[in-house]
This record gives sequence, structure tokens and C-alpha cells, in this order.
Amino acid sequence: MLASFFMNEFDIIKQYFTTDSGRKDVVMGPGDDCALLQVPPQTLLAVSTDTLVSGVHFFADMDPVALGHKALAVNLSDLAAMGADPRWVSLALTLPRVDEAWIKGFCAGFFELAEYYNVALVGGDMTRGPLSITVSVKGTLPEGKGLRRSGAKVGDGIYVTGTLGDAALGLKQALGELSVPEPYREFVRNKLEHPHPRILVGQALRDIASSALDISDGLAGDLNHILAASGVRAQLDLESLPLSEAMTASVTQEQAWQLALNGGDDYELCFTVPGVHRGQLETALSHCGVKFTQIGRIGFGEPGLELLNNGKPYSMPLHGWDHFRGAS
Ligand code: ADP
Ligand code: MG
Repeated sequence: MLASFFMNEFDIIKQYFTTDSGRKDVVMGPGDDCALLQVPPQTLLAVSTDTLVSGVHFFADMDPVALGHKALAVNLSDLAAMGADPRWVSLALTLPRVDEAWIKGFCAGFFELAEYYNVALVGGDMTRGPLSITVSVKGTLPEGKGLRRSGAKVGDGIYVTGTLGDAALGLKQALGELSVPEPYREFVRNKLEHPHPRILVGQALRDIASSALDISDGLAGDLNHILAASGVRAQLDLESLPLSEAMTASVTQEQAWQLALNGGDDYELCFTVPGVHRGQLETALSHCGVKFTQIGRIGFGEPGLELLNNGKPYSMPLHGWDHFRGAS
């Protein structure tokens, strides 16, 4: 394309990545040496960064619109898990070449989600190299708030939003490792490529949950982070794990539990709620339009995870996603 031939880094930034979000707390957006952001008094800044690498986190030929959405969604999911209000985002893009159609598509997916949550793109970086995307989101919390991993206590209920394992099912379908019945294929592909960050749920849980995180690497591994940080033991009721119709139509019950516990990329929230707040939970989450399910409880004993099937101990291999597993 002739236009691309003449486009340099600064043209691209100006044309595609400099938009006016209308946020009053952005004193200086893209274009200077730093962004300048107005942090209100008595406010905590919540900051999180995630990188997506081609061939590791997504297929190289993934639809750029979906990729733009996902790159921001997985970052917003971390703000959701903290209960923070999203405000700003920066974007570091490493691109093998200038492909304007790709950049346009990426921006369409990215900015649609950014506008939905009123997040301003305030800066970033552009380099040439193997395709990789690093997003850093910034949100705020009132002083003293924030859903940490370390607050779970004996007697708390354990909950998750949505259904579990669908993204992993979508990945297995894409890799040809199993066959999802045709009517459910789009659903599972969407779950893999188009996660919805649970921002409203996180905000609603701010004064209710004792701990929370987002499930990016599989429920079992991620819940273990809560258990380790809180120094507690959990009992999980396998029969309570929320499974989609797509899941139950595609695999056996044992496989479904495997995917629900070990599959990555769900971006649902897992959280604990003490008894005193359980009554508020239904009301607080009712306006979020997201289903939630109790899947177990925090009990007495050594920190760790116990699986129960209708009250009886059950054993299954558990392994969260670890990029460095097996690497020397
Ligand atoms: P520097 O050389 O100071 O690092 P750059 O040339 O990388 O600056 O970037 C120039 C300006 O454009 C900066 O304000 C930067 O934040 C912004 N910018 C660069 N890449 C992006 C991007 N992908 N999205 C938004 N803003 C960007
Ligand atoms: Mg730079």
C-alpha cells in the first residue's frame, strides 16, 4: 500500500493512537515525553501490565480486531480483580512491519473496549520486531480499599463468576485436539478471543469480598495463589463448578472438570466472601448482569486445595499454566 510506504512511526501514532477520550484527568496524553495524569486526593493508583506474544498467547493470524480487544481485556481483568475503577492505559506495540489494515483492525477492537469502560490511551511505544503487545492499565481505588489475595478466612465461601474452562475448550477446538459440536463453536471461540473483564463485579465486591483474583491461568492454580497468600485451606465442590452447555455437550464430566480447573484464559473472577456479607452479595451483583456461583469454602487445615465430589475426597492432576514449566 502506497500510504504505508510513507508512514513513519510518528504518522502512525498520530493517525491511529492519538484520540481524545474526553477524560478531564488526562492533562497530557500521547505526544510528549510523558503522559501527565491527575490523580485525585485520597486515591490509590492501581497499576498492572500484561504482555501478549504472537505464537505464545495468540495465533499469529488472529483477527486483529479480536486481538485489540483481548490485549486490553486481559489487562482490565486485573483491575477488575482488585476492584479498581479503570482510568488510563498505555500501549507498547512491537510490529514486524507497517500493515495499516492490521493496525486499523487492532485499534477498532482496542478502542471499542476502551470507550466502553471510559479508559483513555495516554501513551505507549512502537518498535519493529516480532509481533508482541504490552498493555499497562492504571485505575484508582479509594484509600484503604482494594481486593487483595490475602484476606480469605476460615468460613468464607468461595465463588466464581461466569462459567469455567470455555476458553480452554475453544483453544483445544482451534488446535484440533477435540471437536466441539458445531452450534457451540462460535461461543467457545468467543470465550477464547473475546473475554469480558468483570469490572462491574470487582467494583461491587469492594466492600464485600475478603479476597479476589482473576482466573487467567486456570482456577486451581489461581485459587492456590489466594490460599498461599491467605495461609488457608479450601474445599472445592467439583459438582458445583459452573459449566457451560458448550462444555457439557463437548466432553465428559471428568474432562470438563479438568478444563475448568486447569484451563487458562477464562478471565472470570474468583473471590471469597465472609458469612456476614453473604446476604449483600446477591443484591450487589444483581446489576452486573453476570452469573456467580459458590464452588466451595475456606476450611480448617494446612494451606492447600481439597477436591470433593459430592462430599467425598476426589483426586485429579492439577496444574496451572506456567510459562517456565520445564524450562531450565
Ligand atoms: P520517546 O522517544 O520519548 O520514547 P516515542 O517516540 O516512543 O517517545 O513516542 C512519542 C509519543 O507517542 C509519546 O508520548 C508516546 O507515549 C506516544 N506513543 C508511542 N507509541 C504509542 C502507542 N502505541 N499508543 C499511544 N501512544 C503512543
Ligand atoms: Mg519510545
